[in-house]
Amino acid sequence: MKAAADDAGARAVSAPLKVLHAAAEVFPLVKTGGLADVVAALLPALARAGADARLLLPGLPAIADAVAHQRTVCEIGPVFGAARVTLRCGQLPFTHVPAYVIDAPYLYRRGGGPYEDAHGVEWPDNLQRFALLGWVAAHLAAGELDVAWAPDVLHAHDWHAALACAYMAAHPAGACRSIFTVHNLAFQGLFDLADFGLLGLPAAFRAPTGVEFHGQLSLMKAGLKFARRVTTVSPGYAREIATPEFGFGLDGVIRGRGTDVSGILNGVDRELWNPRTDTALAAHYDAEAPDGKLACKRALQAAAGLAPQADAPLFGLVSRLTAQKGVDLLLGALPALLRAGGQLLVLGSGERVLEEALQAAARAHPGRVAVRIGYDEAFAHRLIAGSDVILVPSRFEPCGLTQLYGLRYGTLPLVRRVGGLADTVVDASDTMGATGFVFDDATPVALADAVARAVASYRDEPAWRAMRRNAMAQDFSWDSAAQAYLALYAQAIAGG
Ligand code: ADP
Repeated sequence: MKAAADDAGARAVSAPLKVLHAAAEVFPLVKTGGLADVVAALLPALARAGADARLLLPGLPAIADAVAHQRTVCEIGPVFGAARVTLRCGQLPFTHVPAYVIDAPYLYRRGGGPYEDAHGVEWPDNLQRFALLGWVAAHLAAGELDVAWAPDVLHAHDWHAALACAYMAAHPAGACRSIFTVHNLAFQGLFDLADFGLLGLPAAFRAPTGVEFHGQLSLMKAGLKFARRVTTVSPGYAREIATPEFGFGLDGVIRGRGTDVSGILNGVDRELWNPRTDTALAAHYDAEAPDGKLACKRALQAAAGLAPQADAPLFGLVSRLTAQKGVDLLLGALPALLRAGGQLLVLGSGERVLEEALQAAARAHPGRVAVRIGYDEAFAHRLIAGSDVILVPSRFEPCGLTQLYGLRYGTLPLVRRVGGLADTVVDASDTMGATGFVFDDATPVALADAVARAVASYRDEPAWRAMRRNAMAQDFSWDSAAQAYLALYAQAIAGG
């Protein structure tokens, strides 16, 4: 008997950990922000670390049509208003990560974006669309949908998948543990509480101790309350969201989870973001041979219609154009940036008033300010490679990826001291290991002051070269993030 038990123990130790991620986006199929990059890179990193990591996605057209080698796992039948729901499994293109796809044409097969229609109006049936994602995740976790595979851990991302944690808490089945990751607390998935009945959750979950939030129904709260462990994408943001200033009204719920909440810093996909091999770039370079970076700058200035001045410090911004991202602060600091001899290049889209103000600035300062409204992955790579400074003046920033890309491309980040930005950029005033410029107050004056410091450093070539070397030597790898998630999964499984 004893030998048999030992064998079983040994098998359990050596069997790969099975983890199911549930998310609404994955790069390059569907991306509205950093979430897509994280999901795309984290699962391969978990697989490299020995886990059996699979992904559950809604069958949006760009996903359902791209996942390869699909086979039907089960017919789910009518649920959440969809007459026909089928669970399929295949592989993501490029990375070959195993991916379950919820084929529910009535809810998912439509034009527009994942959360909004082509005019930016939220889909009226988003509650049903994302309840289905959480519901399928929970039933897969319980081993009820795929007879051949059930996860040890379910890892739900953002409000889109958060209901999975509530469904698992309502109907505990099997030993699967839930983890919930907040990528941005500002987007909460709020719905009419009168629609609670659509979810099929027990009535007790309608209370403030459940998913009720100030008279509404909050999907984000479902993840925060009911996941075994909650993570966010940087240690700094994990601390911040427990405070009223950054908690969007959920800080009390987060404080209530105590040490169940932690931060694990995002990484950089080192193949996708590599100035040595990046096919989008006009020239290649690295820390040892940085000359190609100047060729990238010249090509970028030419493409953007900026004056071909190699010695003008070029400030770049790649971002959603919103108040969160501090675009209004940048507009306020622009006169100082121009007075200091800088150029500004912006790629992004978002709030109409900010887009128009940036376009007006470009018209007012031809050759000095250029703006490209829209989403352009290849141009983002060229902008980050060709700029001298990458701007991330956010009011709040869960992790931020563009400053990490900037570090890797030797484009020094200028960031506000919040969330993941504070965790990843060391200010120039720090004599050891400086990698960029950090400012505190969310004001144009504080940003302008940081811009002035950046220009002064830029004019000091040896200092600039040293900072650029430091920046390019930073190693924010997905492999270390994957190890941290595996340690967390192990703790959740152990019940700690
Ligand atoms: P958030 O998720 O809050 O938008 P992150 O910095 O975490 O911010 O991630 C943003 C991602 O989207 C980065 O990969 C960035 O390069 C990319 N991105 C943002 N705007 C654009 C754009 N207009 N064109 C191309 N890529 C963009």
